[in-house]
Amino acid sequence: MSMTFSGQVALVTGGSAGIGRATALAFAAEGLKVVVSDLDGEGGETTVRLIREAGGEATFVRCDVTREAEVKALLERTVSAYGRLDYAFNNAGIEIEQGKLADGSEAEFDAIMGVNVKGVWLCMKHQIPLMLAQGGGAIVNTASVAGLGAAPKMSIYSASKHAVIGLTKSAAVEYARKKVRVNAVCPAVIDTDMFRRAYEADPKKAEFAAAMHPVGRIGRVEEIASAVLYLCCDGAGFTTGHALAVDGGATAI
Ligand code: NAD
Repeated sequence: MSMTFSGQVALVTGGSAGIGRATALAFAAEGLKVVVSDLDGEGGETTVRLIREAGGEATFVRCDVTREAEVKALLERTVSAYGRLDYAFNNAGIEIEQGKLADGSEAEFDAIMGVNVKGVWLCMKHQIPLMLAQGGGAIVNTASVAGLGAAPKMSIYSASKHAVIGLTKSAAVEYARKKVRVNAVCPAVIDTDMFRRAYEADPKKAEFAAAMHPVGRIGRVEEIASAVLYLCCDGAGFTTGHALAVDGGATAI
């Protein structure tokens, strides 16, 4: 079965790097027009260039997902550029290296919750009315396997990703009858800048990361992108409120 998309326009936050860039490229390869958004303008313009070089259509809009006025403006720019919004991948996120719970700081808590939770909430708050007005759409939020279970020394991050799944499930139920589907993707360790910042300094940590997954390796950004595209495609029309682990078997143990 090949994936089919009756929509035409996709938005990807955190689209300047890693999982977001791979997913923006994958949407564009399916013929969708893509709005690439991020705090990082240089990386975002690179994603747009890569899409255009491959024959696709994309535009970059800078946005800090923690600021409502910027999120509102991002959605206005999306509609003025391409007329509608069919698929939204709310993927911008941060992970700050933390110690055990009692060693965390209030600043870390506010920063992680601000991007990972408030950012996803604000994006959905402004995307859903557009989708309702046009008769439907699909949203995928990036959670994590850290949102499905314990993540030692990452308690705030883990709490933020559990919250993403809570927002996802609640929105899915609220808007199911209105044809807006909302799902989450839950990656395990994926080879991105975020992973390299956390693990590269210590080769033992990298080995440990590979061994955490029954498949014996960490994941690739394209493997998350294909899961996101599946959750958006017409064939996933009966799938909503789901948190899909893409984790090399890590949560099956
Ligand atoms: P990354 O650091 O390569 O990309 C994250 C992007 O988000 C960056 O381009 C960054 O500029 C952007 N961003 C950060 N704060 C922002 C803000 N306030 N507004 C707009 N953009 C902002 O990381 P990645 O690994 O591609 O992560 C993407 C998502 O996947 C994150 O939500 C992360 O928590 C999640 N995730 C990653 C892994 C992993 O192993 N890499 C595992 C599970 C979940």
